[in-house]
Amino acid sequence: MRLLLIEDHQRFANFVKDGLEKEGFTVDCVNTAATGEAAQASVRYDAIVLDLGLPDLDGLELLRSWRDGGSETPVLILTARDGVDERVKGLNSGSDDYLLKPVAMEELVARIRALLRCPGGVLGLVITAGNVAFDTTAWEVRINEKTISIPRREMGVLEHLMRRNGRVVPKDVLEDKFYGFVKEVSSNSVGVHVSRLRKRLSGADATIIVHTLRGVGYLLSEDDSLTSQETSSR
Ligand code: CA
Repeated sequence: MRLLLIEDHQRFANFVKDGLEKEGFTVDCVNTAATGEAAQASVRYDAIVLDLGLPDLDGLELLRSWRDGGSETPVLILTARDGVDERVKGLNSGSDDYLLKPVAMEELVARIRALLRCPGGVLGLVITAGNVAFDTTAWEVRINEKTISIPRREMGVLEHLMRRNGRVVPKDVLEDKFYGFVKEVSSNSVGVHVSRLRKRLSGADATIIVHTLRGVGYLLSEDDSLTSQETSSR
């Protein structure tokens, strides 16, 4: 899950970013409305956390322009502005939720997960493929009813592939999804995570297989004949 955080208070932004990343989110952080606008135009975020008091433009204006432009990305307003009027204004401008600073990390995470489960949001509760169940609320994977431990990045890759079970996921889409623009992506790091994940799945007797389609991307499937077809077609 990739999130955009628009927040000009640097220390608070770092606190939120760290907290969300510990929960498995990838977070891009910007500190003005203009950079937020640019980021939102270039990356398809799963949700946006928006501060209202920004140095160059009121966050509500930014949100209104997105909604006027047809963007449906879930937005959670995170602000120090209190009062019923402010909250109503925020919701009327098209925000999906409104949370006051200071905020408890647990509450922020719970609210974001709730947003992602809303219509238009990307979370279902439990996604299944073959004998693998991915609980997106508990952030937990079970194979044959047994919980298995998987590192955070690989969890992210698996979740994305499971949501697109049976469909090809281009490699650059995975890269885009799991690396914020601050961190550099080495050209094979997605491949490394996929191959570790593949071993982990087969080690736990999963019935799903992550196929590599060379030059194209990845495909999750229960059909183990795909890999040989792919080899023979090259
Ligand atoms: Ca602010």
